[in-house]
Amino acid sequence: MAVEVAATPEVVAYSMVIGGKSVPAATGETFKTVSPTTNKPIGIIPKAGLEDVERAVMAARQAFDEGPWPRMTPLERSRALHRVATLLRERIDEIARLETMNCGKIIVESRGDVTSSANCFEYYAGLATQLWGEQIPMNGPLLDYTLREPVGVCAQIVPWNFPLLMAAWKLAPALAAGNTLILKPASVTPITAIILGEICRDAGIPDGVVNVITGPGKEVGEALCAHPAVDKIAFTGETETGKRILQLASGTIKKVTLELGGKSPNIVFPDADFPESIDGSLFAIYTNAGQRCTARTRLFLHKDIHDRFLSEFVEKARRIRIGDPLDFETQMGPVISRTQQQRILQYCQFAQDDGAILASGGRRVADGALADGNFIEPTVFDQVTADMRLAQEEIFGPVLAVIPFETEDELVRMANSTIYGLAATIWTRDIKRAHTLARRIQAGNVSINYPTVNPPEAPFGGYKQSGLGRELSRHVMDLYTQVKNVVVNLNPEPFDWYGRWPTPPR
Ligand code: NAD
Repeated sequence: MAVEVAATPEVVAYSMVIGGKSVPAATGETFKTVSPTTNKPIGIIPKAGLEDVERAVMAARQAFDEGPWPRMTPLERSRALHRVATLLRERIDEIARLETMNCGKIIVESRGDVTSSANCFEYYAGLATQLWGEQIPMNGPLLDYTLREPVGVCAQIVPWNFPLLMAAWKLAPALAAGNTLILKPASVTPITAIILGEICRDAGIPDGVVNVITGPGKEVGEALCAHPAVDKIAFTGETETGKRILQLASGTIKKVTLELGGKSPNIVFPDADFPESIDGSLFAIYTNAGQRCTARTRLFLHKDIHDRFLSEFVEKARRIRIGDPLDFETQMGPVISRTQQQRILQYCQFAQDDGAILASGGRRVADGALADGNFIEPTVFDQVTADMRLAQEEIFGPVLAVIPFETEDELVRMANSTIYGLAATIWTRDIKRAHTLARRIQAGNVSINYPTVNPPEAPFGGYKQSGLGRELSRHVMDLYTQVKNVVVNLNPEPFDWYGRWPTPPR
């Protein structure tokens, strides 16, 4: 059944990319994608089903088993990735605008995401030519060496909070290593992933190497994760979905990388640079309206600065400019959906039920032009304790839990007391304390005197239930390649069972 919305200049009809062609769903079904700023439709999207999963996986399989991509020289692959980066940069105005319209993040952030995506392709264009094995000295007349080979067909499933950037983090290293792939964006934010698929085709990446299919996670995502012709799954999303994916992958022992949820601490000591730590802490929670896996959602304030810090923080939080995310002056846009808005407000109620003190926000913003959108005030709860739902569960919205602390041991205990371990920030001028604490906090990414940053050069990923494996940097190349050992007999003597070769038993 097709959606009731017709294509108009404001509502664009998109196609999936399968085997190098722009195609509708096999059934012809579509769904609409809306703007969280207005909740009005902006796109008509093919609703993929099992037949489309089959088509996409077979296209990727054939491109891997028989196509030119894995057999090209690394330099040829590198050049194609550079072309993707160039095309992204050339289309930054259009792509950033579409990203903002589809996911509600402010235009400044969307432009940053397009640039970061291009940087990511350039970084892996460089690494494509830097993948080598090793030669291993042996105890006998043998030449032993390793090859780094691509894993094969990768299913890459991404969430709605960084639709383009998360896709770039997945595509660029997979392609650099010579894999082929099927990208599945979140159903609420499919537009820029489709455009990225088209750009890869325009950049000369051969047909079938990059396939993009759009459809429900439960049906399309699960079918991809269970498909016997898929060799690897790279997933970013909720921890619960990650658990399901691990189960599905076990049927055929797929390689799996998971980037999951977080409840990251932001720790401020009395000796921190006061203005910088306030601005940095605001940025760490409220960018992308708090919808970041790495959002520093728990603010640990030392008791000696608690009152002064909090009053200035709240004062500045109230001045955050909420509005149309396409306006360059706006600092915070809407959250992704009405459902998510309701969920966030429900958590604000839980916090009050549990005894936290509302210091600011906690309400929907629906004045004037914002009436139709999913806006929420930057929210601060004080006197949160580490066991409250607000301090334990990922909310994914602009809601901060302030937890006072006195000693470092108490702080470490509370900071490490969730199932997550994605990121952490420490604000202090004491370098011994900063580096010691960086080791004691269970998190894959720690920033000192800086709110949050994830460039392609540095590894990114979670401890505990925040993930499995790493993205970005050289480390991810280990997860998009597999090691083959090759051994060569150099012995001039004939083969002699347990005799003198290769290693005498005694
Ligand atoms: P989600 O888990 O609901 O969906 C993510 C993707 O998985 C979507 O494409 C969805 O369609 C698909 N999906 C859903 N159910 C599936 C299933 N059963 N099998 C296969 N695929 C399925 O997550 P979301 O709501 O889109 O995104 C928010 C979450 O993503 C948060 O938990 C956030 O912390 C996490 N996230 C993590 C990182 C990271 O790098 N650690 C980055 C961004 C977001």
